[in-house]
Formats: sequence, structure tokens, C-alpha cells
Amino acid sequence: MSGALPPVAPLVVRWQAEHGRSSLPWQRTRDPYRVWLSEIMLQQTQVATVLDYYARFLARFPDVHALAAAPQDDVLALWSGLGYYSRARNLHRCAQQVVQVHGGRFPATVAELSALPGIGRSTAGAIAAFCFGQRAPILDANVRRVLTRLLGFDGDLAQAAQERALWQHAQDLLPTQQLDDAMPRYTQGMMDLGAMVCQPRQPRCEACPLQAHCVARAKGTPEQYPVRTRKLVRKAQAWWLLQLQDAQGQVWLERRPERGIWAGLYSLPVFEEREALMAWLEGAQAQLQQEHPSMLHVLTHRDLYLHRVVATVAQPPAMPVPGGWYDLAETAALGLAAPVRKLLQSGAA
Ligand code: SF4
Repeated sequence: MSGALPPVAPLVVRWQAEHGRSSLPWQRTRDPYRVWLSEIMLQQTQVATVLDYYARFLARFPDVHALAAAPQDDVLALWSGLGYYSRARNLHRCAQQVVQVHGGRFPATVAELSALPGIGRSTAGAIAAFCFGQRAPILDANVRRVLTRLLGFDGDLAQAAQERALWQHAQDLLPTQQLDDAMPRYTQGMMDLGAMVCQPRQPRCEACPLQAHCVARAKGTPEQYPVRTRKLVRKAQAWWLLQLQDAQGQVWLERRPERGIWAGLYSLPVFEEREALMAWLEGAQAQLQQEHPSMLHVLTHRDLYLHRVVATVAQPPAMPVPGGWYDLAETAALGLAAPVRKLLQSGAA
């Protein structure tokens, strides 16, 4: 790309007013708590899924004080099923910091917002723009795609210098007038364009307000942007999950460590090898009841094959990991890892 940046902000603002989304619940507010909650939930999760969770969260935690005061288990339990649980833990810590450090009011600047747990530069930009009319850019995956295509930006975004250059362009393209109205609308407009028009495959250029300025469209190569060379390396891993039941039908659940997969959530005890599980069953004098076919659980960087093994014991033995015995009915209220919840709901044996 070369030359001056095209003056697109007024086009985006006008298009958003006429064609953009306006009925999502977090669009009807400038309350930073609500905007922040929606932004965190929308990271890596579709709007349709977030709608339910957002309503439930707000019913249970109507403001930042309520969230900060809640036990972490309650927050994780409500988050269960949304995935990426580090988001929920950071959400909770962030609420506590907003209360302790900022007296319960979210700060208005990108610098202060991004110092809070779980708030990256783009999320900070969204909160600053939506709630405070700040001239702050966002650069999530949707906006990255729109901007690189519009500008014909072919720098490799795996390189930090290129990523920085794109942030600078995002900053320079922002509205310059009537920021209190224009910034929320422009920010929403860029998100909407990425989600509704400039889609990864077959963008709808004929419906795009930026078409007259768009370098990628003129070249006929929108799908070649954005450029990013680093490829995700996926790994496959197998876990054996022990569903051990005592004479009362209670099941043993472990609390996962604070780091790694399902950190801080409840799970059936995990064994990385079938032999290790079988050896443990023998030592504990447990009766193997059933081995279920594996279930695939897809994580960001790996495919996890989960094998559920059901066994029973007459006397509770010393367990391999810290945890507790729970009635199956009780487990619904725990912060369970979502696939474990699914496995437990799929049958007691
Ligand atoms: Fe995307 Fe096409 Fe619009 Fe360019 S003209 S920003 S490629 S939808």
C-alpha cells in the first residue's frame, strides 16, 4: 500500500446508522460494565451464543460490585460452556480491581483500561470508544480483515512491526469530529462490516460503503488479506477420565490446577495413559464397569480425545488428586469443564 489514507470514517458512520446492527443488548447502553462484559464474552464466541450468557450474567451480577464480591466458583459455573476459562477468571479479577483500585468505576483511557486483567488493547479501545467517545481504535479479527483489504496492506501480521503499522493506520483512520457520537458508531460500523459484509470468504463488496476506496477490491484479491505466515500447529492428545462412583452413587471430582487446560474448573480425574488408570483401579480395588468410545474436544491448539472410564468402589479409597465426592445432581452447580459436564449428563454409566 502507498499514499494518503482514504477518508472513510464518515462512510462507515453513515453506513452503520442505516445498515448496521442496532438491537444487540449491549448496544443499548454506554455503561462500561455491560460493554466490557459483552466484549469479553464476544472474544472467540459467536453473538448468538453470547446473548443467553450475557442475560444470565447480568441477572446474577447486575453490576461490577456484585461480580467482584462473588465466589470464583459461581463465576466459573455461570461461564461453563463458553470455553476459554481464563476469560472468566480474568473477568472476576478485573471486577475486583475496578472496585479496589478505581472505586467501582471503569477508567476511561486505553492505558488504564489495558492495565486491568484480561483487557487487551482492542478491548480497551472498544470500551473507550463505546462508553467514553475516545478516539481509540480496535483491531479484532474482523476489523483487521476490513482494514488490510481496504488499504491493500500486505505486511505479514505475524511480524510485530507490521502489526504496529496496522494499529497506526487504524488510529489514523478514526473520525475526527463529533467524537461522542461518531466514535461509538464508527467502532460498531467496523465490527459490523467485518461480520456482515467483508467476510473471510466471498466478501459482499457490492454492498460495502468502502468499495470505491478498497485496494483489494480493485485488484480483485480480497481473500488474499490479511497476510499472516505463522500457522497454528495443532497437536492431538488423549486423556482418560475416571468416573469413579462410590456405593451411594456419588462421583469423585478433582479441582484442576490453576494453570493449563480447564484451569481451576472441576473435572473427573485425568490420566494421560490408559495403563496408569488401570493400574490405579487395581490398587484401589475398584471394579471397572465400562469404557466408553472417545469423544473429541477441540481446543485452540490441540485436539483432545476424551475417554470416559466408569468404575465403582465399595469403600472410598485414597484418591490420586485432591477433590471431593459429589451427587450427580449437585454437579450442575459446580464450575465444571464443559466436556465433563456433557459426559456426566450423557449418563451415569
Ligand atoms: Fe471488504 Fe470488499 Fe469492502 Fe473491500 S470492498 S472492504 S474487500 S467488502
